[in-house]
Amino acid sequence: MRLKLLAAAALLTLAACGKSPSPPATEGVTDAMIAAAPEGEWLSYGRDYAEQRFSPLTQISDQNVGQLGLAWSADLDTARGQEATPLMHDGVLYITTAWSMVKAYDARTGALKWSYDPKVPRETLVRVCCDAVNRGAAIYGDKVYVAALDGRLIAIDQKSGKEVWSKVVVPNQVDYAITGAPRIAKGKVLIGSAGSEYRARGYLAAFDAQTGDELWRFQTVPGNPADGFENEAMEKAAKTWTGKWWEFGGGGTVWDSITYDPKTNLVYFGTGNAEPWNPKTADRAGDSLYTSSIVAVNADNGEYAWHYQETPEDRWDYDSNAQIMVADLMLDGKSTHVVMHAPKNGVFYVLDAKTGKFLTGTPFTKITWASSIDPVTGRPNINPEARYEQTGKMYLGSPGIYGAHTWHPMSFSPKTGLVYIPTNEAPFAYLADNAFEPGSIGMQLGLAPVLTPADKAARGAVRAMLSGALIAWDPVARKEVWRVPFEGPSNGGTLATAGNLVFQGTARGEFVAYSADKGAKLWSFPAQTGIIAAPMSYSLDGEQYVAILVGWGGLWDLFGSVAADKSGPTRNISRLLVFKLGAVGKLPVAPPMADRVLDPPPLTGKPNQVVRGEALYARYCGVCHGGEAISGGMVPDLRHSPTLNSGDAIKSIVIGGALKHNGMVSFKEAISGDDAEAVRHYLIKRANEDKALGEH
Ligand code: CA
Repeated sequence: MRLKLLAAAALLTLAACGKSPSPPATEGVTDAMIAAAPEGEWLSYGRDYAEQRFSPLTQISDQNVGQLGLAWSADLDTARGQEATPLMHDGVLYITTAWSMVKAYDARTGALKWSYDPKVPRETLVRVCCDAVNRGAAIYGDKVYVAALDGRLIAIDQKSGKEVWSKVVVPNQVDYAITGAPRIAKGKVLIGSAGSEYRARGYLAAFDAQTGDELWRFQTVPGNPADGFENEAMEKAAKTWTGKWWEFGGGGTVWDSITYDPKTNLVYFGTGNAEPWNPKTADRAGDSLYTSSIVAVNADNGEYAWHYQETPEDRWDYDSNAQIMVADLMLDGKSTHVVMHAPKNGVFYVLDAKTGKFLTGTPFTKITWASSIDPVTGRPNINPEARYEQTGKMYLGSPGIYGAHTWHPMSFSPKTGLVYIPTNEAPFAYLADNAFEPGSIGMQLGLAPVLTPADKAARGAVRAMLSGALIAWDPVARKEVWRVPFEGPSNGGTLATAGNLVFQGTARGEFVAYSADKGAKLWSFPAQTGIIAAPMSYSLDGEQYVAILVGWGGLWDLFGSVAADKSGPTRNISRLLVFKLGAVGKLPVAPPMADRVLDPPPLTGKPNQVVRGEALYARYCGVCHGGEAISGGMVPDLRHSPTLNSGDAIKSIVIGGALKHNGMVSFKEAISGDDAEAVRHYLIKRANEDKALGEH
């Protein structure tokens, strides 16, 4: 009987695999349209397949951008980080917002046509590293596609906003989440997942755009060898790992960049860090393929084509997930089809798109983890002191975990030949936590002294090293051409236009236009809130528009002390802003920033209780509520929490799950009531310290 059932199941599986995929779209948005986007439209996350984020529109130019004004704006019904790039097709603007919601607006007037809410359970928030963000939708045929935070891929009817199909595409909804924008290739929807800080095994998968059926899946790291390898690439990769890496998932998640290149029929994607960060925890040695790499697979079947590992033996969270851009560059007098990449590790790479051959790798910012990159093989020479788990010492590394450049999109102007990179100067003090107890987030670093140094001067010194810049980079000459420095990191993505302009929003809430050739500041608009997303441009009825989502959040808010000092204080007022020449629209007057005064009860906790609370805070709370217990403004700042006055109140939340609907689930699996009380005493200590310093 059992055998019969198994045979039947096998047949069913075969039938599913044998199903022929639906043909590519021939009406609505087609592959040919995405490949060569109509001048006035924006059809894919990076505008077209090449992901250059270059608008060929010229009406708004360096000559008249001073007359740019607000045409219309739309308030969003969520107050979390907004990271999406709007899409525009046939007069309709499609956006996604935090919590993976999708909205369609009349692109001329801003009238809302429809709104779709996948109703992501709010407690999903506790198992994602960096806010409830979503970076955008895909449009294809007559549908809109969104990948929801809880791991669903959803198809929506473009006209009505009604759900057509929805399916869970992640292996489980505990270790995996999705924040990235789906991409399209020949009738397929491509999406990976986030989760390399948890126990995820990275992959990129392709789904039938019509039915949602899975067509192929490429794993980025090998599984347990005892189960057999999926393909030769996994077998080779397994030789670069030690220990029982599969028990930790391995990481290498594909959480942002996915680029389909019709010229090579390859899909290039970036992979995240190896998991866990601290190699010692998992007895991990070797390169750990294919983490922190660019991998290319055949778009038709997901078969491995090539890879280039940017950061071997990653232990610094150097995700290679920043956008992968395709271009034809004149190299040594010859037009060369390349991919360009500026990942977290601080090096600007140019690779041959067809073969993956390393062409050049040049630091675009200060790097301390490698002394050089071999000019032939592209292999970095890693500095011994950067192997912090081997030295046992704290390693102050540049870049840090925030990355020199990450998901905030860069843009490329074929007219200037420059790439416009939003960069961070953000070192991080790496310290192995060899007494690590498994927790909800698998960093295995001693974050307590790093994120919450007891010494005020040490905190100040770390913060003083942080800054940001918009860098115009020449990928052929391999040098910086101009830069605009910013006080803090985490400024928005960029848009280049044929009007000799570059647009970018800042963490401090200014939306700015610069001349693309020289970096001269030509125009700005106060957005009332920090900007992290990238702008886009479209045209209708002969008028050019520039649109951007504003709303502070994401990773930098979570490292609140940094944001508060350097990039803020800022706050979240989530909106879609749309500009055109001659418009004179105004935003409603922003409410004044709340003037909060610290008013904690006196410190009564015992010293060992406070120390214990500090370690617990760094491990479980700091990633959301901010280092040093200072929030960046979006997640509650616990120094101000009324629960400081009541042990029962904090337990009802931390143990009882009283604020589950806000994303603050119970931590009863990880910590005890006594632990919650220790955290309360640590928070009281921090609040009193800052009160004494006159801070707020
Ligand atoms: Ca990561």
